[in-house]
Amino acid sequence: MDDCIFCKIIKGDIPCTKVWEDSETFAFLSTNPNNHGHTLVVPKKHFRNIFDMDEHSVTSLALATQKIARGVYKGVKAEGVNIIMNNEAPAGQAVFHAHIHIIPRFTNDGLHSWNKSTPYQEDEKEQIAEQIFNNVA
Ligand code: AMP
Ligand code: ZN
Repeated sequence: MDDCIFCKIIKGDIPCTKVWEDSETFAFLSTNPNNHGHTLVVPKKHFRNIFDMDEHSVTSLALATQKIARGVYKGVKAEGVNIIMNNEAPAGQAVFHAHIHIIPRFTNDGLHSWNKSTPYQEDEKEQIAEQIFNNVA
């Protein structure tokens, strides 16, 4: 993908602060970190997001994410981490090359996510669960 900023970072055409890489995965610090150590883990192969990734690539990305999460957790002496993937613009995706955020967390660090609760009406839960089940692919 010629105009993809993360492909350019992986190729070395745009500078980054690299954290780690292997044959399939690349990790670097986010330039707009929610906390220091906020790391992005990306497949070297270009995918838009979770929906177009193949099984092997998802597996590699997940395994690399676990290892790098341990690095972030210990490396910045975090008390926890959030592992987040934004898929499509309404979910917050701004860069359309699949990536996982590893965000170090600290007690009372002021980050608040998903602060809205949307209760179900009677019987709605079962219908929604069935609709999801029927579309698992
Ligand atoms: P998302 O909103 O899930 O697409 O996240 C995009 C992430 O990429 C954000 O954390 C940005 O700060 C980060 N980002 C965008 N451009 C760069 C860049 N050139 N180097 C490092 N991180 C970047
Ligand atoms: Zn790309």
